[in-house]
Amino acid sequence: MIIRSPIVVTMDGSPVNNGAVVVTEDRIVDVGQFDQIRARNSGEIFDLGERAILPGLINAHCHLDYTCLRGKIPPQRSFTDWIRAINAQKSELSPEDYVASIKEGFAEAKRFGTTTIADLTAFPELIPDIPVPIRTWWFAELIDIRAPEHANEIVDSAIESVRSSPEFAASSPVSKRFRRRGIAALQTASWGLAPHALFTASKNLFKRCEEIAEREHVLLTTHLAESREEMEMFREGSGPLYEFLEGIGRPMDDCGNKTPLQVFVGASGSRPLPWIVAHLNELTEGDFGLLQQFNPKFHIVHCPRSHDYFEHSPFELDRVRSLGFNVCLGTDSLASNDTLSLFDEMRAFQKQFPTVSGEEILKMVTANPARALHQENALGKIRSGAFADLIAVPVNGPGLFEEIVAFTGEPWMMMAGRVQ
Ligand SMILES: [Zn+2]
Repeated sequence: MIIRSPIVVTMDGSPVNNGAVVVTEDRIVDVGQFDQIRARNSGEIFDLGERAILPGLINAHCHLDYTCLRGKIPPQRSFTDWIRAINAQKSELSPEDYVASIKEGFAEAKRFGTTTIADLTAFPELIPDIPVPIRTWWFAELIDIRAPEHANEIVDSAIESVRSSPEFAASSPVSKRFRRRGIAALQTASWGLAPHALFTASKNLFKRCEEIAEREHVLLTTHLAESREEMEMFREGSGPLYEFLEGIGRPMDDCGNKTPLQVFVGASGSRPLPWIVAHLNELTEGDFGLLQQFNPKFHIVHCPRSHDYFEHSPFELDRVRSLGFNVCLGTDSLASNDTLSLFDEMRAFQKQFPTVSGEEILKMVTANPARALHQENALGKIRSGAFADLIAVPVNGPGLFEEIVAFTGEPWMMMAGRVQ
């Protein structure tokens, strides 16, 4: 199929005017100017009219588990109070509620142009019950705060649950045509591990996850340095989060003299591991020195609307970017956000950082998260060999990227080569 568009926004060089994208099976096989594309390809032409075509969007951090909590938790006085509030809500939910919530979340994310999602689920045992309508990285979210002596079993049992999903059991279909060109298969679903945060997952749990990530070549993600209370807990050994966690029996001997980033380095060691780190709002001057030394750098996810909801300290975008960190956007969950639309998220980001260009913002939901997921040639760009996960939005004037960021509504979508 030849998809014709007045502007192909490749995110892999300059946009192509009067362009076209050729799709065979689930892949992009050619991209360029329409006349040249037509001269070297045959097949049905699908004309997008006045719509720009761009890569499908990638949500680098969310929790579809809590889609059903939209509007249920008003902003609290403290991050710790929010944890109490979400725990109270969660105690009312059954496994069936979570399955429905995750399915609803997938549908909403997809409706707003998300074709790939990094989803942290606290219920890996539910994964086999949930068909994925978009490309999904399931991260098993792990907490051992009430049983740190069972860290290894908690990790191993989560992996067993994930692996029992038919999606991971089946061998990935990839046609001979692509095998010959050396393009590896990527299943619609992949998995990874998410020790929840330093304040809920023990050092041993982090270590076990890292061992498995090295052995199985899977990705890791965690929440780090999100709130002022987390900083206070680790650095001062005091504050609401410290008191709350001490009250439920967490050993607090890692608190009182290190920043969260220093504790993370201690827990994680110095091995190069595929970490995607959410938040990183709380950093001291010393932490910036530490960040400079990271090699390779981990990837960072900023969640603009969740950040506003919690009134976290300003995200130091310029400083982390100047140190070479790859910054992506995520929606976080609907327990601290209103929608799963990455267009809404891009606009919230633009309000926080009005000097960042529309093109840079769009990169944070396409090419940048593709890198974080180790898929820089397969996702987030329109290029030959990449997956045909595409969306299209109306454009009619100059300021192409600003117009894309301003888009409200439901875009046209192609998922894995199929018009949706
Ligand atoms: Zn989160």
